[in-house]
Amino acid sequence: MTPYVRPSALGVAEFCPTSVALSEQSGIGRSAVLSTAWHAKLAGNDTLIGELHPEERKEVSNWGTPSDTKVEDLTLRWEDAEKELRVQVLERDQLLTEGTLDAAWVVTLPDGRRWAFIGDNKRSSWGVPDGADCLQLAAYGHGYAMLRSCVGYTPGLWSGTDSEWTWGTPVDLTSPDALDLWLRVKRSARNDARNLAGDKARAVTGEHCRHCWGRMRCPEWHALSEVSEVVEIDSDNAANLLLRAQSMAEHAERIKDNVKVFAERGGVVKDPATGKVYLPTVTRGRESLDKEALLKAHPDANQFWRAGKPGQMFTWRKP
Ligand code: SF4
Repeated sequence: MTPYVRPSALGVAEFCPTSVALSEQSGIGRSAVLSTAWHAKLAGNDTLIGELHPEERKEVSNWGTPSDTKVEDLTLRWEDAEKELRVQVLERDQLLTEGTLDAAWVVTLPDGRRWAFIGDNKRSSWGVPDGADCLQLAAYGHGYAMLRSCVGYTPGLWSGTDSEWTWGTPVDLTSPDALDLWLRVKRSARNDARNLAGDKARAVTGEHCRHCWGRMRCPEWHALSEVSEVVEIDSDNAANLLLRAQSMAEHAERIKDNVKVFAERGGVVKDPATGKVYLPTVTRGRESLDKEALLKAHPDANQFWRAGKPGQMFTWRKP
């Protein structure tokens, strides 16, 4: 266990002090293994990609390599970025958090000041609460700007599945907003039940639970999925009801997965009324296009990309 809160855990730790320890006790899923192999590949190390299942390798090959990007009038070239840099965030000589920053650039502005651009590679940026303005990038931004004597930074996220950069709000380190962010980073880094006592160390549920890696071990998250009678929705109960529904849906998926494993191992899953049994059927593998390989062979192939009709997606976000 790390003796500190990792930058990627700050966003949930800000609200719930027990999330850090629970997340570190949890094993990692295949999606985390794929993500680690992809990050290693982007940093020039193909070893982990070689260890993936062929289907997983195919999937990872569809996540784009970060492109050169334009931020305001500046062009940042991917090959010029400083990559995979260990960054520590300190308050005086006390370590608050430490992690690996995927990419960073330093630019000298026309007035001679140095400005940092920091980039984090995500498989998809949808799952990151607050997007590029998240606390993880605030921690890296502060740490990296200090390290390279910059007066501010702009945070960015590269989404592998969408093959695009999203840039967040520039942070001038002398501004009140930067102070506010810094205080949030500090408070989150210290909001760790391992160092707190009594009520302060309690689990706190909310929308942030959906981003907590330790939720499957968390009694409070499980309690949310207890079935209650159907009630009329109003603005007092809507958020809690939705959270409960999301918790139930996740538990339902987990139960279905476990029943499938049981059936695969020879267990009998039988409906007593009809006598039908639940068994796997072999299906053909899904065909997919290796976009990266296609564009390498035919650079103008993106003229055939088609965008579907706009749909509607509900997510938790700032009003
Ligand atoms: S699931 Fe929610 S309440 Fe439980 S540890 Fe995670 S953030 Fe805290």
